[in-house]
Amino acid sequence: MLLTRYRTALGFAFAAALMAAAGRQASAIEPVLSAAESRLKADVTYLADDLREGRAPGTNGIEAAADYIAGVFRELGLKTAPGAQGYFQPFTIAGTPTLDDKASMAIKTKDKDKPESLALKTDFAPLSLGASADLKGVPLVFAGYGITAKESERKLDYDDYAGVDVKGKAVLIIRREPQQKDEKSPFDGKELSSHSDLRGKATNAFHHGAKAIVIISDTETAKDSDPLLPLAYAGGDQSTSIPFLMITRARADALLKSAGAGSLADTEQKIDETLKPQSKVLDGVTLSANYKINRNEIKTKNVIGVLEGSGPHADETIFVGGHYDHLGHGGMRSGSLAFLSRDIHNGADDNASGTAMVLEMARRLSRRHEPLPRRVVFMAFSGEERGLLGSMHYVKNPLYPIDKSVFMVNFDMVGRLNDKSELTVFGVGSTPGAAELVDSLGGSLGFTIKKVRGMSDGIGGSDHQSFYLKNIPVLFAFTGIHNDYHRPSDDHERINIAGMGRIADLGELLLLNLAKRPKRPEFTKAGSQVAGHGGATPAASSTSNNAKPKAADPHSSGGNDEDMARVSITAYFGSIPDYEDSTTGVKLAGVSEGGPAEKAGIKSGDIIISFGGKPVATVYDYTKCIAAHKPGDVVEVKLKRDGKEMTLKVTLAPRPGR
Ligand SMILES: [Zn+2]
Repeated sequence: MLLTRYRTALGFAFAAALMAAAGRQASAIEPVLSAAESRLKADVTYLADDLREGRAPGTNGIEAAADYIAGVFRELGLKTAPGAQGYFQPFTIAGTPTLDDKASMAIKTKDKDKPESLALKTDFAPLSLGASADLKGVPLVFAGYGITAKESERKLDYDDYAGVDVKGKAVLIIRREPQQKDEKSPFDGKELSSHSDLRGKATNAFHHGAKAIVIISDTETAKDSDPLLPLAYAGGDQSTSIPFLMITRARADALLKSAGAGSLADTEQKIDETLKPQSKVLDGVTLSANYKINRNEIKTKNVIGVLEGSGPHADETIFVGGHYDHLGHGGMRSGSLAFLSRDIHNGADDNASGTAMVLEMARRLSRRHEPLPRRVVFMAFSGEERGLLGSMHYVKNPLYPIDKSVFMVNFDMVGRLNDKSELTVFGVGSTPGAAELVDSLGGSLGFTIKKVRGMSDGIGGSDHQSFYLKNIPVLFAFTGIHNDYHRPSDDHERINIAGMGRIADLGELLLLNLAKRPKRPEFTKAGSQVAGHGGATPAASSTSNNAKPKAADPHSSGGNDEDMARVSITAYFGSIPDYEDSTTGVKLAGVSEGGPAEKAGIKSGDIIISFGGKPVATVYDYTKCIAAHKPGDVVEVKLKRDGKEMTLKVTLAPRPGR
């Protein structure tokens, strides 16, 4: 299951309480397993074995898992889908960035006739959170810490951009924030506040019209040495549409002095003492930079097996899905909640359990003597943990017509059925009669069904959401969040296999009911929140835990405190951004029913290019824009629809369920 990013503090507390409340079950006695339980156990054990490496896209481990799933489909005699490559539907996702070796940078100051070249990795270093660079003679402006902070509750009124025009120029900014050693600092005392976030600074520079960002270490970080940050320091994803690079403090100091702006140390001290910005255009300083960051796509694939139906409804398709990818070895941007751990995240519950359930459904339905009246397509998705990428890829590149796709049943985290046999079923609002159906089927098998009309209760989304956004009715079974969620301890020993056997019985009955109905189930809007609020992002796991890890080695691939800064969002816009990387605006995969965006006439497919007067290039810019507003604010949203620009006024609401 996908972690909901940029969770508000309240959302967090809710998730933490849920996790704390959910105990884990471990059975002391080795039970005798039924045939179905043995199959489920074998599948989960294989998929969640250390040898599968946590099934991160791009690893041998997930490839082996894909082959295993395809092997089961083949054994069962399932067909391949037309247009697929055998049982596979390949697609690509963004991988680890690398830098072309020809990266160059030069700076011209007024006391020299010619620009001076800087040495890569010694004097300067590009960061992959920014774009590739092709800058020639761009004027440089010193902009303090690159922070604009106006928060009356914290008594913060500080703007490094006040009184300087940075349009079309590059900004030179310091990492982190002022007054880091001051307990009384309005920037959260000695803790780092959200204003220290590198991505937030990138968006702020972009919003002020800057063409590039040059960052330097702050005095605290550079106490002993002044290391340049590694390329993927803030994660592999590009979060701003302008170049972002780093130079040494010594270089920056020389630049300030050449422009008659005093020394760097004095300037920092002045900011600390007065909390007044010391920004200035650096007279005669221009920079040129040329480098290319390769985003190195990773190949991955959905695994798809087909059981054809027979009769007048044989052209209608029911999907049974579950994602088979997980977080690999964790890491800062993976969605792991075990910060700094590089242990294998086996994802037994998330989602070896759901994958095993898809395989079990395939076994049961394919072994029936009579063909079913409708086609059933079994799908194991990749890229779910990166933002529902596999299911989004499928619905954008469907192998069966969407208008004849009549239902989707999703299994994600079905391995932790509790003592009370509580099973949560989402999406009962997406078709009439679903609530009654799951109640009666669930009741007959001894389950207590917790029904949720919409797609999510705010914890996270899963692949059914991609189908729902195409107006296909969905149901999603889930046994709940627990302490091992997105941690290396989500192991197969903790799976409730007997519980999975019972869920398989329920799944089978449900699918038979759906497949045999005389009329296809109707789609209705579920009418409640869809996961992903106004700006969930694929990469920013920055809000995913309340624990701030301390002082990571800046050379490690992980992040540092400043990347962990939390973005607090109080206003609700009600949109679901497409998770695909984009740097030219944020395309919406959908809007939440009854939400402010929908009420204002914003639609799925719209590309948001400006929000509240600020330009939007990336999903990070977008999130930052929403975070800058309060419920009740009326904002102008500029968007592109079918190539045409339009502006709509939206009244932001309070976030639902709070
Ligand atoms: Zn997950």
